[in-house]
Amino acid sequence: MLYLALVLLIFALFFFHRSSTQRKQAGLPGERIIYTDTRGWGKVEKPLFYPPLELTGKPDYLVQQNGKIIPVEVKSGRAPDAPYVSHIYQLAAYCLLVEKTYNTRPPYGIIHYENRDFAIDYTRELESALIELLADMREDNLKRDIRRSHEQASRCKRCGFRNACDQSLA
Ligand code: SF4
Repeated sequence: MLYLALVLLIFALFFFHRSSTQRKQAGLPGERIIYTDTRGWGKVEKPLFYPPLELTGKPDYLVQQNGKIIPVEVKSGRAPDAPYVSHIYQLAAYCLLVEKTYNTRPPYGIIHYENRDFAIDYTRELESALIELLADMREDNLKRDIRRSHEQASRCKRCGFRNACDQSLA
């Protein structure tokens, strides 16, 4: 279950502040603002796991809608203009886990910020981008010398790997 922390944290580290333009260039789907009724949201008790990709994670909620199961990821703070790429990939990972676990493909997932909800379509392109990213991350994990990808001390301050990281800026 070590992958839970690793996969989701590495998403955040690598993609924390990508712009909307970069997201579109990467072929990720656009977002749309939606209204959601949180009364239908069910808490997820145990992490979902998909062995072939060694992927595990726990969406904050699952919502049943028209026979589909929609994962919801809750983020603290006010919504950015568009969801961060890291959040989109995290949600895509949950969509994949829901599909593999319940044998039904979510058409989209929801990112819930304090003041706004975004629906992100779980397209085949997003799924492929996610699988490629996971492969890249696995490859990087095998490398001994991985350089820091940013110059932001504030990110290091919030990072769970700070004490073990020899490139920390904080
Ligand atoms: S502490 Fe290390 S792993 Fe964490 S954000 Fe900083 S450089 Fe990256």
